[in-house]
Amino acid sequence: MTEYCSKCGEKLKEDAVFCANCGEKVPNKNKTLLNKYVIIIIIIILIVLAVFLSTTFLLNQTQVVKVDNVQFELPADYVKEPSRTEISYDENVKSSAMGWSNDKYYIEIGVTKTPGAGFNSEEVAASLGGTPTKMFGYTGYYLEYENEGCAFIFGLKDEVCMIYVSDYDAFEDVKVIGRV
Ligand SMILES: [Zn+2]
Repeated sequence: MTEYCSKCGEKLKEDAVFCANCGEKVPNKNKTLLNKYVIIIIIIILIVLAVFLSTTFLLNQTQVVKVDNVQFELPADYVKEPSRTEISYDENVKSSAMGWSNDKYYIEIGVTKTPGAGFNSEEVAASLGGTPTKMFGYTGYYLEYENEGCAFIFGLKDEVCMIYVSDYDAFEDVKVIGRV
């Protein structure tokens, strides 16, 4: 391919480094080609990075849910079940339970408020036959149900929290934020 000087327009000899007419430096073809590849590679890396970051962000989206005075974090794909149970055993003991489900699992969180009722999570869990376990950073009791699912019960000051999951793996979806 015949090339011409970018300054004076003189026809250039093949592999000429300088223009024979005006002395203008002839741009290095290999170098500009390399620069082009570097730019293309950088653009590809940026696109891959953008796609990766956006999918990671979408997959990691969470929702903060509140049951009574305790906050939890669940993945965004969990949809709240319409039913919400609130039971008052007496003026001192009040239970709230809410459920969420996605395509895979069902999670139910119950919080029992027992201000001054004189019982604690140990007593509650012991009465249900739980195994002492540490989960979510709390020491509590683990229960397995014969028909389906399992639960973890732990105390949070004057509140007893029960996290029931339809499958043990769903425990990974729950994060306990703590009392509001
Ligand atoms: Zn020239």
